[in-house]
Amino acid sequence: MNLIDLHCDTLLKFMWEPGTNLRENNFSIDLAKMKKAGSLAQFFACFIFVKRFQGEDIWEQGYEHALRMIERGKKEFSDNADQIAIARNYEEIIKNKEAGKMSAILTIEEGGILNGKMSYLEELYRQGIRLITLTWNWENCLGYPNSREEAAMQMGLKPFGIEVVERMNELGMLVDVSHLSDGGFWDVLKYSKKPVVASHSNARALCNHPRNLTDEMIHALAENGGIAGVNFYPLFVHESNKITTEHLADHVEYMYRKGGEDFVAMGTDFDGFDDGESTITHIGQMDEVFDAIKKRGFTASQMDKFWSGNALRVIKESL
Ligand SMILES: [Zn+2]
Repeated sequence: MNLIDLHCDTLLKFMWEPGTNLRENNFSIDLAKMKKAGSLAQFFACFIFVKRFQGEDIWEQGYEHALRMIERGKKEFSDNADQIAIARNYEEIIKNKEAGKMSAILTIEEGGILNGKMSYLEELYRQGIRLITLTWNWENCLGYPNSREEAAMQMGLKPFGIEVVERMNELGMLVDVSHLSDGGFWDVLKYSKKPVVASHSNARALCNHPRNLTDEMIHALAENGGIAGVNFYPLFVHESNKITTEHLADHVEYMYRKGGEDFVAMGTDFDGFDDGESTITHIGQMDEVFDAIKKRGFTASQMDKFWSGNALRVIKESL
């Protein structure tokens, strides 16, 4: 079964652990495991942890770091050109598949690195970035992050955040609301003219974490034609922080009930977390996840939508 995973942090591992590579590694994602998972396309996030930088211009340093990370990712894709190639739109995913290759889609996780400059957005687009997660867990030039404090959670997009959403629509980049405040989420839905993505977020009704989506948000995202990728990070899946494929299937089933069969996608967050316990630790185990979900009574066509069809539809409409 073809799989599209909307979020992983494997590129960060390469940055932090020199000598590692995409072909074969001990991380949650490498080419061998992706192949086993039937990967059609993998979104690779350039996550920029800006607080690791010192000095006044941490956002500027973050932008430079992002460019290096993009370069690092591209090196892995060219070193392994027999198996994978970058894709910037639907046609390139299909072209890669026909050539027997998996696709890599580059994203930015931490829109603050734009540092108030639209020229940086244009350059990232030129570099092949096709999705931006507007915030991570800190306030930035675009808006405010998810929070357990009610007032902070209601803060919306900043003026530059609104401009960026509109320009991303024009350029053909996916706007990602994962990590954003609830107020920011509602602003993105208000200003975006294209389907919106929550690349790695679950249902808050099943796991009460501010990173997850409320029923109202699921409903509104689905109405907008958007999708959400089910996140495998145990802390966002179940309050016990110990999870199995059954807990993941619970989120799929719930999000399907609230958002419909065109709403659910996969957004594993692999290589982006260490906390909690899970029986699923790498992408090579996606067949186990598939079986657990399928057992809930979904048809082959619904499973196909969850695994890749919904993501492909949004990519085709937006990029
Ligand atoms: Zn994340």
